[in-house]
Amino acid sequence: MSDAHKSAAAEAPAASNFIRNIVEADLAAGKYASRHWRGQPGDGKQQQAGAPDPAGIRTRFPPEPNGYLHFGHAKSICLNFGLAKAYGGACHLRFDDTNPEKESEEYVRAIIESVQWLGFDWHFEGQTNLYYASNYFEWMYRFAEALIEDGHAYVDSQNAEEMRANRGTLTEAGKDSPFRNRGVAENLDLFRRMKAGEFADGTHILRAKIDMASPNINLRDPAIYRIRHVSHHNTGDAWCIYPMYTFAHPIEDALENITHSICTLEFEDQRPFYDWLLNRLADAGHLARPLPQQYEFARLNLSYVVLSKRKLIQLVEEKHVAGWDDPRLPTLVGARRRGYTAAGFQLFADRIGVSKSDSWIDMSVLEDCMREVLNESAERRIAVLDPLKLVIDNYPEGEFELCEAPNHPQKPEAGKREMPFGRELWIEREDYAEVPPKGFFRLFPGNLVRLRYGFVVKCIGADKDADGKVIAVHCEYMPDSKSGTPGADTYKVKGNLHWVSAAHAYASDVRLYDRLFAVPNPGAGDRDFLQDINPDSVRVIHAQLEPSLKEARPEDRFQFERHGYFVADRLDSEQGAPVFNRTVTLRDSWAKTAK
Ligand code: ATP
Ligand code: MG
Repeated sequence: MSDAHKSAAAEAPAASNFIRNIVEADLAAGKYASRHWRGQPGDGKQQQAGAPDPAGIRTRFPPEPNGYLHFGHAKSICLNFGLAKAYGGACHLRFDDTNPEKESEEYVRAIIESVQWLGFDWHFEGQTNLYYASNYFEWMYRFAEALIEDGHAYVDSQNAEEMRANRGTLTEAGKDSPFRNRGVAENLDLFRRMKAGEFADGTHILRAKIDMASPNINLRDPAIYRIRHVSHHNTGDAWCIYPMYTFAHPIEDALENITHSICTLEFEDQRPFYDWLLNRLADAGHLARPLPQQYEFARLNLSYVVLSKRKLIQLVEEKHVAGWDDPRLPTLVGARRRGYTAAGFQLFADRIGVSKSDSWIDMSVLEDCMREVLNESAERRIAVLDPLKLVIDNYPEGEFELCEAPNHPQKPEAGKREMPFGRELWIEREDYAEVPPKGFFRLFPGNLVRLRYGFVVKCIGADKDADGKVIAVHCEYMPDSKSGTPGADTYKVKGNLHWVSAAHAYASDVRLYDRLFAVPNPGAGDRDFLQDINPDSVRVIHAQLEPSLKEARPEDRFQFERHGYFVADRLDSEQGAPVFNRTVTLRDSWAKTAK
C-alpha cells in the first residue's frame, strides 16, 4: 500500500462499516496494487498497456438516466464517493444507459447537478471519470461473440412463453432449450444477423450457456442480448440489439477498472453470474485480473415517503405534486428547493450507516439531521406568520428607532442586524388571548411581556370587529426597558415575543410544507399509495417578514425564530421577490403520531 493510501485510510472517520472493513483489508493485502489504467475505460489488454493505476480503489455510482435522483440515491452516492475520498480512490459517475427506452438528456443533466450539489466530484488526478455505458456497446458486442466462440453462449429461438415455461421454478429445475446445442458457427451467424437487423424483436435472443438445473434461477442460461428496433439517446440507430443489464453491468465495471462494485441487496442472487461472466472473459484474455467484485448493502427505506421511481413518476405525471422539484418530493432537486442541505444528507448517511439487513429509517432521523446542520449554519430572522396588529399607544406616531438583533445566538462573529421599531407592529395572532389559558405568559390585558430585542410592553386591551374577532391589540411601552440598555432588567417578564414593524415589514407568501404522506408506510398492504397523501402537505400563507428578508438571495437559509427553518425559493427569488419555503419545523410535530 502506498503512503498516500495509508494516510487516507488513517483519516477515515471512526464510524466503520462492513464495506470499509473490506476496503481496508483489500488495501492492506495489496489486492488491487497490480492494476493498470490507461486513463480511460478499456479491455484487459488496453488497460495493461497503461501506467499503474493511481487510484487505490475505484467505485462507481451508476444511475440509469430514467428519472431524478431520490434520497435513496443520496445514500449510495455518499457511500461510493465517500469511500473513494477516504481511501485515496476515484469514484466514477456512470450513466447506465444501455436500455434504449425511457432514458433522456434531461435526466442526465439533473443527475449531474444533484451529485455536484451533494458536494461530490468524479475528477481524479486530472481525469474526468464521467462515463456512459452506451459508449461500451462495441466492447460488449465483441465480448458476446467471444462467449459464443468459447461455447459459453447460444442463440435461442424459443418465443418468450416457451422460455418462461422452460425456466422452471424455485423448486423445479428448468428444461434445456431445443436450440441449446447449436454449433458455434450457426450461433455466430445468427448473432451477426441479429445485429444486422435481419430479425424482428423477440424472434431470437442470445443466452449464456450455464446450467438449466441450477438452484439459482439467475444461472439458468440468462439472456444477455435481445433485439430491440428502437433508437437510443446516445447511439441513435447504430444498434438494434441491446445487452441485458445483468450482462452489461459487470462489463462496465471491468472496463472502468472498478474494484468495489457496490449495489443493493436485491442483486445478491446476481453475484454468481457477475463472477461467472467476468471470469469467462478473463480466461479468454479479454479482461485482466484482479476483477471487480460486487458487494451488496441494504437500500434506504424511509418512512412517510416513496422511493420508487415508478411511484415518483406517477406523482409527477398525475400532478399530485407540482413537478420533479416540488419541495415535498423525496427527490434531490425537491430537497434543494425545500432547503435541505448537502451537509444534512452527509450527516444522515453517516448516522444510518451501511449494513446488510433491510430496515426502515424514520423520516424524523433525516429531519433531525437537517435541523442539526441548520441550527449551526442558518442565521436567525423574524417572521410573523399569522399577523395581528399591535399598537403601542404611548409611542409617537411616525417615529421609529432601531433595535439590534444577533444573527446567531451562539455565534457572535455572525454579527447583528438592525430592525426598525415603531408605533405599529405585527405580532402572531396566537400571542394574544383575551382570557389567558393556564400557563399563558404572552399578551393578555394587564400582562407585561418583552418584545424580543426591543421593549417591555404592557397590554391594555384590544379592538374587535363586528363579529368579535380581535383586529388589534393595544399596549403601552416602557421607554427605559430597551434590550441591551441598563434598564432592560428592571422588569421581570415571562413572555418574549417576536414582532416586526408594520411600516417596514416585507409582506410575502410563505409556503408551509409538511410531509407528503400522512402515514409511515404509504400504500402498505393492498392500499393505493395515493390514498395516503397528506391533504395538508402544503399551506401557502401571507406573512409579514422583517425587512432584511427582502434582500435574501436564492437558497439563503434562515431560522425564523420560534417557527423553524426556511429557505428563499430559488425559482421565485430569481424573479427578485423571495418567497420562503419551510424546510422543517423547530421540533418534530410528528413524533406522537409516528408510532
Ligand atoms: P430503477 O431500478 O427502478 O431504475 P433505481 O432506484 O434502482 O431504480 P438506479 O438509477 O438504477 O435506480 O440507481 C442507481 C444506484 O442507486 C444503484 O446503484 C442503486 O443501487 C442505488 N439506489 C437506488 N435506490 C436506492 C435506495 N433506496 N437506497 C440505496 N441505494 C439506492
Ligand atoms: Mg436500478
